[in-house]
Amino acid sequence: LFIAFEGGEGSGKTTQARMLAIWLRDQGYDVVQTREPGGTKLGMRLRAILLDSAHQGISGRSEALLYAADRAEHVEKVIRPALRRGSAVISDRYVDSSLAYQGAGRMLDRDEVARINEWATGGLVPDLTVVLDVPPAVGLRRMGSPADRLEAEPLEFHERVRRELRALAAAEPERYLVVDGTLPQEEVTRIIQDRVREILPD
Ligand code: C5P
Ligand code: MG
Repeated sequence: LFIAFEGGEGSGKTTQARMLAIWLRDQGYDVVQTREPGGTKLGMRLRAILLDSAHQGISGRSEALLYAADRAEHVEKVIRPALRRGSAVISDRYVDSSLAYQGAGRMLDRDEVARINEWATGGLVPDLTVVLDVPPAVGLRRMGSPADRLEAEPLEFHERVRRELRALAAAEPERYLVVDGTLPQEEVTRIIQDRVREILPD
C-alpha cells in the first residue's frame, strides 16, 4: 500500500500524513512515513541545496533533475524495500510535486518532467494520491514568513502549482482524493480515512 500526499505550502500535508500513519498502525499495518525531498541520507543533502535561498534562480532543468535524483534514491532505498516487506508507505510529496512545481510552476514541458520521473522511479505509482487543496494565499499565510526558496515564489507560481495538482487529480479520479484543506483538521483526517478504508485489502 503506497499513499502519497500532495498540496501547496501550508496545506497540512505533514499533519495529515502523520494522522493517517497513526490510524493505519491502529489497523495493524506496519507504516513507513517518509517525505520528499529528504527521505534519505543523500536526499537530506539535496533538500538543503534545493531549499537554500542562495540558489534562487537556478535553472529549471537542474532543479527538476535534483528533485528527480532525490526521488530516485528515495524509491530505491526506502519506498520499494518497504513495499516489498509488506509495509504501508506514506510519502509527504512524490512525482506530482515535480509535475506541479517544476512543470507548471517553472513552466517546463510537462511530458519531459513526467519522463525523467518515470525513469527516476522505475514507473512506481502510488495506490492513492491525496491532494490537500488550499488557496495559495491561505496556505502561505498559514506558513508565515517564507522559510525556504520556493515559499518565496510569487503567488502566481503557487496558483499554477495548485491548478496542476487539481488537473492531475481530475484526470484520474479513481486514483486521487482531493480534499478541501481549509476544512477543520479532524474533518480532513476523517475524509482521508474513509477513502483509504475503501482501498484496504480485507
Ligand atoms: O513539503 P515541503 O514544504 O517540506 O517541501 C519543501 C519545498 O520544496 C517546498 O517549498 C516545495 O515548494 C518545494 N518542492 C518543489 N518541487 C518539488 C517538491 C518540493 O519545488 N518537486
Ligand atoms: Mg514548505
